[in-house]
Amino acid sequence: MNVRDSEVIEQLLRSHGHRPVMNMEDADLILLNTCSIRDKAEQKVFSLLGQLREQTRKTNADCILGVAGCVAQQEQENICKRMPDVRLVVGTQRFYQLPDMIARLESGLSTREISCELASDFTIPPFQQLFQNSRATENTTAPCPAAPGADLHKQFVTIMQGCNNFCSYCVVPHTRGREISRPVADILDEVRYYTSMGIREITLLGQNVNSYGTTNQVADQPVDFADLLYMVAEIPGINRIRFTSSNPHDLSDKLMQCFKDIQQLCPHFHLPVQSGSNKVLARMNRKYTRELYLEKVAGLRQACPGIALSTDIIVGFPGEDEQDFAQTMDLLETVRFHASFSFKYSDRPHTRSASFAEKVDEQTKTERLAIFQKRQDQISLERNQELVGTSKEIMVEQVHEKGVQGRTGSNHIVHLESGSGLECGDFAVVTITRAGMHSLQGRLKTLP
Ligand code: SAM
Ligand code: SF4
Repeated sequence: MNVRDSEVIEQLLRSHGHRPVMNMEDADLILLNTCSIRDKAEQKVFSLLGQLREQTRKTNADCILGVAGCVAQQEQENICKRMPDVRLVVGTQRFYQLPDMIARLESGLSTREISCELASDFTIPPFQQLFQNSRATENTTAPCPAAPGADLHKQFVTIMQGCNNFCSYCVVPHTRGREISRPVADILDEVRYYTSMGIREITLLGQNVNSYGTTNQVADQPVDFADLLYMVAEIPGINRIRFTSSNPHDLSDKLMQCFKDIQQLCPHFHLPVQSGSNKVLARMNRKYTRELYLEKVAGLRQACPGIALSTDIIVGFPGEDEQDFAQTMDLLETVRFHASFSFKYSDRPHTRSASFAEKVDEQTKTERLAIFQKRQDQISLERNQELVGTSKEIMVEQVHEKGVQGRTGSNHIVHLESGSGLECGDFAVVTITRAGMHSLQGRLKTLP
């Protein structure tokens, strides 16, 4: 989601005459888009800001230093106090104002710009409108690749922002505000625009896409997430549709049915479980039990045999004892996720769990994380080894001197030693020849 927000910021600034530079010393504006989901991410922002301040003081004292996103939203006062050189602070709903804020700073009308209000009636502007008053002649809505050689054939599309779930550990409802879904027409317009530019893969983004359309005030049609998927799939030119993230308690049978009906829907589901213990899940306010989670997994595997499942895990949640952690390990053995993202619990401001007693000590968290990750790595390797000898379709994502990198619909990265003229965005069928923990090796079989 932050990657997509950064793209929108870049497009917005380009449309107002700003240009990206390759070297930081040449920049007259440095804007950090930030994440505050865990304390570690937030500390990195403050440390980087300190380094940037030192550097810009030496190289370009007029350079505007700014902070955007969740840390800006949450820590605006702290940033202003601790970092007097930061002249731009823009929250998660406000970055559409950036061109005006920067113009005021540049013209000397103000010395510091702060905009961090969270509004209950916030709406995400239609993407065409964002770039309407463009002063630039280039096609400013074109996706901006993060790095030279990066793939221009896949694109994130935000379908909703914020979250109403209030999981007890999570800062998102506080930093991104209440859940708001974008109107269907805006989403479909944006997808059509990208496919007209040759984009082949779309990832629909939201903190909890399963509840799309159920809590918004601006929806133009009564459409739920499954309906939206059927509508997106109708748009000519889309080869692959993905989405993230999903809270298991909102995963409907109708959404599972989509995997049977929609040929372009990739056979991969990221379904964060967080813990295998019912006691911990209840204290996390996740609103599902381990039994319900396992039912959803069975339903998905029935609807889409061979679907790859990934998850998020938090270890060391307050009150998590050895038995609770054993339940998480047991769930891992039962589901055998293809991959997972696992984190040590971290207290976040304004969250309920920050005030929970029975905090797990740092060493125990570190040990549990290592145990979990070691076992997940083994399972990922075993699962990947099962694919050796099979044929898979990949979309090419990177072409290097040494070879080609593509991705399967199931979200496995495949390296090819010889690409035989393949280019980014091409589809090809490969035979899987070797398996590693985090990627596969393949040989080109056929071009489509
Ligand atoms: N919306 C998704 C869901 O419902 O699972 C999760 C989105 S959250 C931005 C990404 C992940 O960060 C979570 O799934 C969780 O594992 C992790 N996370 C969130 N808050 C955390 C905290 N306080 N400490 C450690 N990990 C946390
Ligand atoms: Fe955070 Fe996801 Fe829970 Fe929303 S559903 S509060 S984003 S963990």
